Amino acid sequence: MGRLNLMRKIEREAKMCKRCELYKERKYVVFGCGNLNTEVIFIGEAPGKNEDEVGIPFCGKAGKILDNLLKSISIKRENIYITSVLKCRPPKNRKPTKIEIENCGVYLKKQIQIINPKIICCLGNISLNFILKNFSIKEKKQISKVHGEVIEKNNVKILPFFHPAYAIYNPKAIKIMERDFKKLKELIC
Ligand code: URA
Repeated sequence: MGRLNLMRKIEREAKMCKRCELYKERKYVVFGCGNLNTEVIFIGEAPGKNEDEVGIPFCGKAGKILDNLLKSISIKRENIYITSVLKCRPPKNRKPTKIEIENCGVYLKKQIQIINPKIICCLGNISLNFILKNFSIKEKKQISKVHGEVIEKNNVKILPFFHPAYAIYNPKAIKIMERDFKKLKELIC
């Protein structure tokens, strides 16, 4: 089966998912979107209110910030793949629970297998620590300490970034984020 059909199959499964309680309140399963033949995947934490209503990742305020950061390094959304660890919105945007991450992580692991990216950009701590665990890196890391630093494992570069939502309440962080995104630009040039 080709990439597109494999991804469609996983998406169909995710859309019917009832592995955790989050299915009860979701409007949309926010599976992910973008280019399946990309070398770069971006992984957020979980859909928010806008994403739940529209079904597209990062289509709200945080998405605008992400779009601007991508623009600052001349990367177009349609050339990368964007998804999140959770595919359903946690009530009131609370933090995902361990069990939700474990259950929903099954879909993300499959998405990564299908795309087989060279660079994984982790937006925030939840995403970073999910990926580190998935790459058998045992120790947990904090975005505030490792943002913008490349972590290399099995020929894949893991690139930790602050979650774009962080800049909604800390606008000064944008400058730091722009600097971190330049690292991605260097890696793909
Ligand atoms: N934050 C995320 O982590 N993912 C989204 O899709 C939207 C906001």
